[in-house]
Amino acid sequence: MPLIPMRVLLDHAAEHDYGVGAFDVNSMEQIQAIMMAAAETNSPVIVQASRGARSFTNDNYLRHLMLAASELNPNIPIAMHQDHGNSPATCFSAIDQGFTSVMMDGSLMEDGKSPATYEYNVEVTRQVVKRAHALGVTVEAEIGCLGGIEDGHGAGLTGDEALAHLTDPAEAERFVADTGCDALAVAIGTSHGAYKFTVKPTGDVLKMDVIEEIHRRLPNTHLVMHGSSSVPRELVDMINKYGGKLKESYGVPVEAIQKGIKHGVRKINVDTDNRLAITGAIRKVFAETPEKFDPRDYMKPAREAMAQVVKERMIAFGQAGWADKVPNIGLDEMARRYRS
Ligand SMILES: [Zn+2]
Repeated sequence: MPLIPMRVLLDHAAEHDYGVGAFDVNSMEQIQAIMMAAAETNSPVIVQASRGARSFTNDNYLRHLMLAASELNPNIPIAMHQDHGNSPATCFSAIDQGFTSVMMDGSLMEDGKSPATYEYNVEVTRQVVKRAHALGVTVEAEIGCLGGIEDGHGAGLTGDEALAHLTDPAEAERFVADTGCDALAVAIGTSHGAYKFTVKPTGDVLKMDVIEEIHRRLPNTHLVMHGSSSVPRELVDMINKYGGKLKESYGVPVEAIQKGIKHGVRKINVDTDNRLAITGAIRKVFAETPEKFDPRDYMKPAREAMAQVVKERMIAFGQAGWADKVPNIGLDEMARRYRS
């Protein structure tokens, strides 16, 4: 199956009340880990690459690796998504490279740091929607300000500051009407990175009332949760046991994400947990068998550790078991639907 528009996956997820994890990749082994987990659980897949990932891998490598993933897994629908595009130009270059979905993050200016005005956000998002939809490509936008920094992108708000910059449901409704985006990243208390909360979160990590209100106003817009790693204790402990120095931190509990899925969250971005799994596995090999120097000796366990995390998330988000039931709707058909 060729790569399909992300909208197709999210529509199917909405119809059947599940969420889809969107996992970031920077290397062949990470793509393989996601596909191993998807094949094992019969899950549809969203793979995403940030600007940093695209420059690290080089677009040509990335494009061919994704084509290989789909060639080797003909029964698994895969969407390829640009995470946090900082400008229309970034989104357009992703589309040219075969991405089937792009995020235009106009909540920040092109520097990826300074908060932008509502008008700027609408203007750049509209530009991207116009060109992307003509080609059947999905558009995710963002309104509100997420906490933390990821790959150099973000306003750098702390967890507490992020709680003061939540998405305003009325503004979200107006924004979707003004732009026509397919999916919307909402600020509901999550932050990017490994240090989301400095104290163990209680029941109110996520502003569930805000999610419910946005979903009530926008029942046909797919909500996206960024910064949704759970930062499992055992992964942090594994890194620190083998020489790492991570500070104590808490992520978003999987149960909180599951509640969000009940109220319109369809895409859940997970990166940190995979990074932790990979680093822990590599540190363990280095610490226990310092005589080893074949990269396969540590890349293989690293890939397996990431596949395990991805598999657990796919099951928890409810996407497991659905891969072979997602309709095979391609970019051309999607473009036709946007036109009509
Ligand atoms: Zn993000």
